[in-house]
Amino acid sequence: MSIWFNKLNRQSKKNSGDAEDLMDIGSLPFSLIKNSKLLPDDRLQVVHEFQESVKGQLQILRSALEATSTVLFWSGPGSQEVSVYALSSQNEECVRGVFPMGSGILGALKDRSEISLSPYRQSSPTIPYYSYRHSVGSFFALTLSDEEDLQHKSGDYGILCVDRVSSDAWSSEQKHLIATAGEQILRNLSLSRDLLFTDIERRTLQLVFDGLRTLNAALDIESVYKAANQALELIIAADIFAVSMIHENHHELCYVSEDYVGRKVDRLYPLEDSLVGQVVKYRRSLPEKTSYSGRAPVINGLSLFDKYKSVLVVPLLEEDRPVSGVLIIGAIEANLVNRNIREMVEMLAAQVAIKVDLARSHEQIQKLVITDPLTGIANRRAFQRAFSSMYERARRRIGSFSLIMCDIDFFKSVNDTYGHSFGDEVIQQVARQLNDIVRTGDLAARIGGEEFAILLEDTALSGAFDVAERLRKGVQTLELFSEGQKVQVTISAGVAVFPQDSDNQEKLFNLADEALYCAKEQGRNRTICWNQIN
Ligand code: GH3
Ligand code: MG
Ligand code: MG
Repeated sequence: MSIWFNKLNRQSKKNSGDAEDLMDIGSLPFSLIKNSKLLPDDRLQVVHEFQESVKGQLQILRSALEATSTVLFWSGPGSQEVSVYALSSQNEECVRGVFPMGSGILGALKDRSEISLSPYRQSSPTIPYYSYRHSVGSFFALTLSDEEDLQHKSGDYGILCVDRVSSDAWSSEQKHLIATAGEQILRNLSLSRDLLFTDIERRTLQLVFDGLRTLNAALDIESVYKAANQALELIIAADIFAVSMIHENHHELCYVSEDYVGRKVDRLYPLEDSLVGQVVKYRRSLPEKTSYSGRAPVINGLSLFDKYKSVLVVPLLEEDRPVSGVLIIGAIEANLVNRNIREMVEMLAAQVAIKVDLARSHEQIQKLVITDPLTGIANRRAFQRAFSSMYERARRRIGSFSLIMCDIDFFKSVNDTYGHSFGDEVIQQVARQLNDIVRTGDLAARIGGEEFAILLEDTALSGAFDVAERLRKGVQTLELFSEGQKVQVTISAGVAVFPQDSDNQEKLFNLADEALYCAKEQGRNRTICWNQIN
């Protein structure tokens, strides 16, 4: 159940309010919470009610026993100190605070579950909550524990103290009354704790589900990584989060959380001699222990994770398929990862694995849909899309762009002479040549058998003509051989410019085609601009 506390409490620390409250809640007998100092505001009700009911019980006990003070101390697991959790007192000298376990009556209670001092003498062990003790006639204290290992006192426990002016011996009824009050406090504690845990668990599950929902909405890989990061932040207060994807003997650091964006990290790392490698090999989360010893580097060749005391590497697993990647979580704080956190992260990782896989095939499909399988450059559909968006952009900004249409000359005879498969090879070579020449941002597409279209953004006539000529000359210089025989291939090109030649998209396409036809007419292996023929 403790999984939630680190995160919730660290979150709330950021916007913590009243320092007084902090003190009181800090000394709560909720051991798991105590370490983290404060609960989020909307969780305070249960805690507050518990504290009030303890105060009420102490008050009743005090009047029933005609006591001066009734005080409840509480300690945390393994703590060497106890602090006053609640008290009811007539004595104004009564001191609240934190006291070491070893001295006075606290020391005397180390190996005993109760202590009865009647009469209380000058030589008796000191009572920590009094600076003066002259009015104490008798004293009684009882240890309370909701843990079974009371003898070891390693758990969370309390000390209920009663003192009074009378030095009479404590009767068995009085002792019974004190014991009953102690039991009631414990029962109440257990109930409040359950309430609080249920509440926190419910709230945190809600946060995790919100995270999963974000994950679900993510379509492309980058947003899957980001959504995974957001979801993990709800579970664990980590300082770094990364995703690395596996490629045979290597893994590729694909995502590192916000804070690290912009830092220079290489992307490819070997799997061997690293925690990531072991996680991939054994198909389970590592390290086993809650803290990270740092013996094996998290990533071989990258020191980024060295400083983290808590590290968790979780495989992205889909049933019995090979591990596709890993989630890496690091935190400066030690022991942040416990079994429950691990389980939650694994649950999330299973979802991330599925989402990454989906996003990958989505991207692959997208690629297949827009690239021409023979040449790998854009196909007619991608050209249409790019043509439309370039057209819209240029219209909006009153800019210009150019369209070049190319067609391989006498290609039919290339096929006829050297065979269809050589023809295919020619198409591939020409496509590569065209694609190599155009700038990024421009587009070369295969829009038909041996026909290509080139879109040049922000380019007017003279620029477009120059590019077309470079393409033409580039193809002319291609060294193509069929069975040792050099084959000369040329192209013809037609150029049309927006908005100079036409401000209509369809018309522009037809004008470029007309110019191309004209280049063929005039003897091929040449570039013709539409405005030259009109
Ligand atoms: P020109 O363009 O100079 O007028 O003459 P051409 O011989 O190239 O004429 P046309 O455009 O009519 O012929 C194109 C030929 O390209 C016809 C077709 O068999 C061939 N072709 C179309 N697609 C492919 C392909 O994918 N692979 C191969 N090898 N040939 C193709
Ligand atoms: Mg042709
Ligand atoms: Mg043709």
